[in-house]
Amino acid sequence: MPISKKDRRTRDQKKGDAAGTRVAVKPNGNPVKAPKATSLCANCKKEIVNTYLKQLEVHAETHGGEWTKEKCWPKEFPAAAAAPAAEASAST
Ligand SMILES: [Zn+2]
Repeated sequence: MPISKKDRRTRDQKKGDAAGTRVAVKPNGNPVKAPKATSLCANCKKEIVNTYLKQLEVHAETHGGEWTKEKCWPKEFPAAAAAPAAEASAST
């Protein structure tokens, strides 16, 4: 006896539930995406996906003044702490 696509899906999902291998799906059947890694701005605590470095940079600029991107996002832009500032003047 043929089963409908919907029945087949339900059966597969039950199988997955029993085996513990079923990925999370929304009620409409779409897979639920894993949450993206985010970072909190050190200044305003805004949460931004930290894989978009340009976005972090632009956000830091909105604060202006002393708030460089290295200050807002020390984890994503560690350059400031490690920057060899003394080396530049020594070579002249
Ligand atoms: Zn901020």
